[in-house]
Amino acid sequence: MEVISGKEMAAALKQQLAADVVGYAEKYGRKPNLVVILVGDDPGSVSYVTGKAKAADEVGIDNSTIRLSEQTTEEELLDLVRALNVDTSVDGILVQLPLPNGINEEKVIETIAKEKDVDGFHPMNVAALWQKRPCVLPCTPKGIIRLMKNMGIEMAGKRAVVIGRSNIVGLPVTKLLMDENATVTVCHSRTKDIAKICSEADILVPALGRPKFVKAEMVKEGAVVIDVGVNRDPETGKLCGDVDFDDVATKASYITKVPGGVGPMTIACLMENTVECYLHNMKAQGK
Ligand code: NAP
Repeated sequence: MEVISGKEMAAALKQQLAADVVGYAEKYGRKPNLVVILVGDDPGSVSYVTGKAKAADEVGIDNSTIRLSEQTTEEELLDLVRALNVDTSVDGILVQLPLPNGINEEKVIETIAKEKDVDGFHPMNVAALWQKRPCVLPCTPKGIIRLMKNMGIEMAGKRAVVIGRSNIVGLPVTKLLMDENATVTVCHSRTKDIAKICSEADILVPALGRPKFVKAEMVKEGAVVIDVGVNRDPETGKLCGDVDFDDVATKASYITKVPGGVGPMTIACLMENTVECYLHNMKAQGK
């Protein structure tokens, strides 16, 4: 059994991006520029935004976080996004989710220019993903595939099972696994006999948000297990995944840990998306 270190891979990707950014900055006269918008002061969101800013600093991406009060109206937020859309010095716009009640998330996401949508959540990027056209890929699914590729894990012809069908993880990772020629089954809260389906998986991707849901008896001997969940263990209060790591590690050939697995790769892929959006922006400006 081998633990896939998302932390190490993320560090390597950020290092590579940092070197690339030095060269790009010389060529284009400025660094990539990411603007993060945080509405309210939900502690989870504050911590995510802080982590993204730290990663951007490491890569040499100019970044700023615009903090708005919980009382911000939808129209005020949309006006800010529209202003950033037309600001040619801004390459990436990230609105931290979830947004306070009263602000329509879908409306906000579809207002972000799709070329600056570093999260890959804009409906045009989603549609392009499903039609295999150029697009900004959502960071977590992109990171999951990258983790497996970096480990040399063959996906073609393999039976993959994804647990979860959300727009940000379950659905896009399903599509990316199909693009790698895996045969994919998607499970959700209404799936019957989930343990049996999971136990047939060569590649298991739990993304349901239930602490330690996946036990050894649900896992095939030698399976690759990529744990997306980020939960609080109800017993210890510590962070844990959707996989009971100690139990499942006895069966898996490769497994990720929480924390230190998919999470860091998600952030590194966000940095990569920002650099890609910047390069697109430079090209659009004829540079
Ligand atoms: P979500 O929107 O709540 O979706 C959860 C999905 O899991 C839904 O499709 C739901 O089914 C399914 N599900 C829930 N309980 C289930 C059960 N008992 N059996 C089978 N399926 C079940 O969550 P999400 O945003 O996709 O996030 C999933 C997890 O990944 C969370 O723990 C989140 O914190 C984590 N996450 C981590 C990262 C990272 O960077 N590491 C990024 C994003 C999310 P229905 O569709 O039937 O409701």
